[in-house]
Amino acid sequence: MRMPVIAGNWKLFKTIGESVALVNELKPLVANNKGVEVVVAPVFTALSRVSDAIAGSNIKLAAQDCFWEEEGAFTGEVAPGLLKDAGCSHVIIGHSERRQYFGETDLTVNKKAKAAIAAGLSAIVCVGELLAERESNQTFSVIETQIKGSLAGLTADDFAKIVIAYEPVWAIGTGKTASDAQAQEVHIFIRQLIARLFNQSVADAVRILYGGSVKPDNVKGLMAQPDIDGALVGGASLKAEPFAAIAAFNV
Ligand code: PEP
Repeated sequence: MRMPVIAGNWKLFKTIGESVALVNELKPLVANNKGVEVVVAPVFTALSRVSDAIAGSNIKLAAQDCFWEEEGAFTGEVAPGLLKDAGCSHVIIGHSERRQYFGETDLTVNKKAKAAIAAGLSAIVCVGELLAERESNQTFSVIETQIKGSLAGLTADDFAKIVIAYEPVWAIGTGKTASDAQAQEVHIFIRQLIARLFNQSVADAVRILYGGSVKPDNVKGLMAQPDIDGALVGGASLKAEPFAAIAAFNV
């Protein structure tokens, strides 16, 4: 009942031309994918051109971040409404690289998620523990704090526009994937937490993606877990074939 999502985070890679070329290559490879939502997240400067390139296809467009105000004297920021204007349906919020290098906190993630929803975007809200936190048995408390803070004040209705991405920081870009069981135990923890904080039907419906070195050869095992509803893919999304192979996990 939960439509899986396979989202590619292109991070700070690719020019406009390279981005358009990549989606043009990807389009026929995912054209017949049934029962999966395919999303790509290029850099800001490529969004509008990629939006034109994917028109009429089954690929959706995400930005990698947004601001929480719609306009004003906020030099350098990009508003959710402008992302919508550029053709986005989704925005990634609170990626661990933003938390690590750009001072993103649960409070700013929360403001951005609310602003994204208000603009009609789906927010892919990222959470995940550091290696030191996992090794000191703090994974669940860290995730609980991040979920509570990042999703504070949302209504049950808002959850139609929320996708959660669990991305253990130690697995991002490292080639180390959480085992299927390690990922599943955090995913079910998040779902049960959402049930407690909001309600059971919100928890049953919310998509929870796994992210962290997802590749064509490990996606099936991850996707076979009952509470893993998709993947947020970094490195393997930068080429059409591996990303399309990941998006074809169910064939
Ligand atoms: C990411 O950027 O969200 C990510 C999971 O990267 P990678 O797949 O390269 O680990």
